[in-house]
Amino acid sequence: MNIPIHRFDAIIVGAGLAGLAAARELESHGKHVAVISKLHPLRSHSGAAQGGINAALKDKDSIDSHMFDTIKGSDYLADQDAVKLMCEGAPETIRWVEGMGVVFSREKNGDIAQRPFGGQSFPRACYAKDRTGLTLLQTIFEQADRDGVEYWDEWYVADIIQEDKNVYGVVAYNLKTLEPAIFNAKAVMLATGGYARAYKINSNAHANTGDGLSIYARHGLPLKDMEFVQFHPTGLAGTGILISEAARGEGGRLFNSEGERFMEKYAPEKMELAPRDLVSRAITKEILEGRGIGPNKDAVYLDLTHLGKDKILSRLPELRDLAITFLGLDMIQEPIMIAATAHYSMGGIPVDNEGRAKLNQEHRIHGLYAAGECACVSVHGANRLGANSLLEAIFFGRHVGQTIASDLNDKDFLIHKKPDMKDADRMLNEINNILTSSGDEKVPVLRAELQESMTKNAGVFRTEESLLKQRRKLKNLRERFKNIRIDDKSKIYNTDLQEALELGHMLDYSLFIIEGAIARKESRGAHFRDDYPKRDDKNFLKHTYATMNENGEINMEYKDVQLGIFEPQERTY
Ligand SMILES: Cc1cc2nc3c(=O)[nH]c(=O)nc-3n(C[C@H](O)[C@H](O)[C@H](O)COP(=O)(O)OP(=O)(O)OC[C@H]3O[C@@H](n4cnc5c(N)ncnc54)[C@H](O)[C@@H]3O)c2cc1C
Repeated sequence: MNIPIHRFDAIIVGAGLAGLAAARELESHGKHVAVISKLHPLRSHSGAAQGGINAALKDKDSIDSHMFDTIKGSDYLADQDAVKLMCEGAPETIRWVEGMGVVFSREKNGDIAQRPFGGQSFPRACYAKDRTGLTLLQTIFEQADRDGVEYWDEWYVADIIQEDKNVYGVVAYNLKTLEPAIFNAKAVMLATGGYARAYKINSNAHANTGDGLSIYARHGLPLKDMEFVQFHPTGLAGTGILISEAARGEGGRLFNSEGERFMEKYAPEKMELAPRDLVSRAITKEILEGRGIGPNKDAVYLDLTHLGKDKILSRLPELRDLAITFLGLDMIQEPIMIAATAHYSMGGIPVDNEGRAKLNQEHRIHGLYAAGECACVSVHGANRLGANSLLEAIFFGRHVGQTIASDLNDKDFLIHKKPDMKDADRMLNEINNILTSSGDEKVPVLRAELQESMTKNAGVFRTEESLLKQRRKLKNLRERFKNIRIDDKSKIYNTDLQEALELGHMLDYSLFIIEGAIARKESRGAHFRDDYPKRDDKNFLKHTYATMNENGEINMEYKDVQLGIFEPQERTY
């Protein structure tokens, strides 16, 4: 089969904020860039971000304070040099996007308005009402488009082309026609977003199936800190659709069935504005101990009525609409019902501070880069603070764009190799196997079982028993996956095929979450073990680097955390 080969200087997989920021930067350095995305860029999950983006802008705030909050919030697992780089770059990142035309909400005196967010000692989240992500995404997309970035949207990337420690392209197919293509370049950047879709109750877009992570791991390359999945405290009851932390930032209060403002017990100082891991555990504990509300007693109240109509309409209009649409509750008049929801992926592809993918602490993989939620640099450690992820995506997206531009200028650094038709075999075989398989298992059934069991066994609270159960469940699901059948065999917009490929990815990276969580016999940030409720710096102030072999077995190594600025302390709020 003759497959078209497209050549670029650099290929970026993913058109969210990280991918677009990198693309714009590369284009401004005169490089020929293609952005490949399974969605139209403006449908990337970045566009769903509501609450804000952090930067220490005010005189009374400081970069040091932003760094400290981020590192303490991470439960000291963040690499402190990476945090420093990001926090120092935050004010300039805001100026960069503002210069492109992003319209932030403003104070009366014209300053950019900033709202408080959990775990922050100063109101430092810049925002555009509660549509911050969409405003950012639209602006950067338009500018990158105008500058000449080439978009290949509705193309599904199914593999990277790797030989030894070098990557020189990706293999993809057109979602509209099933036409395959090879994309050849000296530099490939993965910006494929997060993986919380492995959970039943989650806040993520349908596309957040962690494809980039499994594609990478299937080459025997390591994933870092995958056991750290963030559960956001306020998902709408039943669905998990996000009610941004902006709601608590603006003054929202949490109550249980007894009318108790229960955060008093868990974080007397910060109350509702404690970090997400802490608030999610508090809410879940209230529910488990029988003080939940609603028909199934599996939610608590988030009350915003005291803010008044004007504030809600001017600051939180989207959130109000979401609660009316999905719960039939108007937050101006009554409290709404919320519970914790899987939200964000702290783990991912290990990269150095310049975004170069790492094989281990010492060696990198030439030609491969990552940024945004799919990468683990790591600035969030064991728990991300609200409004730090948009910052990470844009700051590191742009920064990695600069790295690639300079690496492309260095003739000795990147290897150019002409791809071979055989490079597409892996993808073509995978697609062919799914299209021709005549088993009796159905993708939606397996996916539902995966999501339900992950929420139940590897959620806010975990134990050895629940995690071992989930390991067995995954083994069973992975066996059954070999026996699937899809009904649609056509070539036109075959969503059955895409969903099968995505489920394959979810089953692969979920293994990393579970094995990492079993091995980490401590509680740190978002990873809470009922059977090991304390943080254990002596044994686990370390990053997990895990690899998968051909039999689907996970091997784990641990690497030191980059400390040096703030010494680990007990984390109280
Ligand atoms: C509801 C919600 C609200 C949020 N609010 C905030 C907030 O207020 N502040 C904050 O800091 N953070 C927030 N976050 C987190 C933040 O939005 C994300 O972490 C960040 O936007 C991720 O950007 P990204 O560029 O890494 O990925 P994404 O924006 O998720 O983009 C991923 C891209 O990868 C592409 N892709 C994936 N797989 C493939 C494949 N196989 N082939 C081709 N393309 C592929 C997709 O098409 C997409 O274009 C929120 C997240 C959610 C879910």
